[in-house]
Amino acid sequence: MNFVRPEIDALTGYVPGEQPTEAGVIKLNTNENPYPPSPAVLEALRERVGPGLRFYPHPSGAGLRRAVGEVYGVDPDAVFLGNGSDEILSLLIRTVVEPGDALAAPDPSYSLYPTLARINGARHIGVPFTADYRLPDAWPTARLTFLANPNSPSGTFLAPEEVAHFAGRIDGLLVVDEAYVDFADTDCMSLVQRCHNVVVVRTFSKSFSLAGLRLGFAVGPVELIEGMNKVKDSYNVNQLALAAGEAALASIDWMRENVTRIRKTRERLAAALREQGLFVYPSGANFVLVRVGPHAPDLQRALARRRVLVRYLDHSRTRDCLRVTIGTDTEADRFLEALSEEMG
Ligand code: PMP
Repeated sequence: MNFVRPEIDALTGYVPGEQPTEAGVIKLNTNENPYPPSPAVLEALRERVGPGLRFYPHPSGAGLRRAVGEVYGVDPDAVFLGNGSDEILSLLIRTVVEPGDALAAPDPSYSLYPTLARINGARHIGVPFTADYRLPDAWPTARLTFLANPNSPSGTFLAPEEVAHFAGRIDGLLVVDEAYVDFADTDCMSLVQRCHNVVVVRTFSKSFSLAGLRLGFAVGPVELIEGMNKVKDSYNVNQLALAAGEAALASIDWMRENVTRIRKTRERLAAALREQGLFVYPSGANFVLVRVGPHAPDLQRALARRRVLVRYLDHSRTRDCLRVTIGTDTEADRFLEALSEEMG
């Protein structure tokens, strides 16, 4: 007797990048930050590890929502917190999409979107990006549209004006997934006030170096946030994550300095790859997508044997590419060295 819902049984499930446990691996496969979190975050965590853990956290994380409001110039009632931004994406679908409704996203993009759609009984419509990763002219009717900006795996970035125009011409809610936006030149936060159908989703995982903590936030129309509050678990963000988030925002210069370093390494890495004659997509993120040719999957495995982990994504548009996270300068050099030896 199989108790699993047939749709779930039939699902392949999202496959996250490998998380090796051994030391000495150059880990450039899941877009983590190579630099540690702010010392203020570590201090706040140490302070919270104590008897106070017997209490539940604030149900909606009022303190952190206020801090987000101050830093980003938004109403704290328009802020929603999640256990990672992945949880927020899932809650958005559960709050907005009815079974059988359509959910659209440009393709290729974050491969979790179709999986989340299926889990929640929605139809996923992947609409091909243009050849240079711009938005297509025609867009299907969909209750909800996901737009990762910068996009993953391409790293390409659409200007806020372009996104505002897109929001105006589509039906339904536009979720601008800004997981990587701190590595870009601008962002779409101001669209939440300008466009009635835009919600912006952010994460502490990448620029703030807190992937292991699981913390993200959304800023959107207040009625939407109220709806999400009804759907979420009562205490979806734990006390430690709330304290760490506040400390991370209070010491935001730490994040900005790391972002500056990562952007420098990104430009240096991209230039070095281009010098080898490889095509590198312009990136606004903490990774680059580089075209290495039809042997990309073999190359990914060969690099892994040299303990340099990068991501290969099996999709018609990325089959000849590798996605490489921007690590430290030393890690970038180790990758370049291993790549040129493998490519001859
Ligand atoms: N959106 C995009 C586009 C991502 O690449 C990721 C990271 N895999 C996430 C959201 C989720 O990030 P997190 O759950 O760590 O906040």
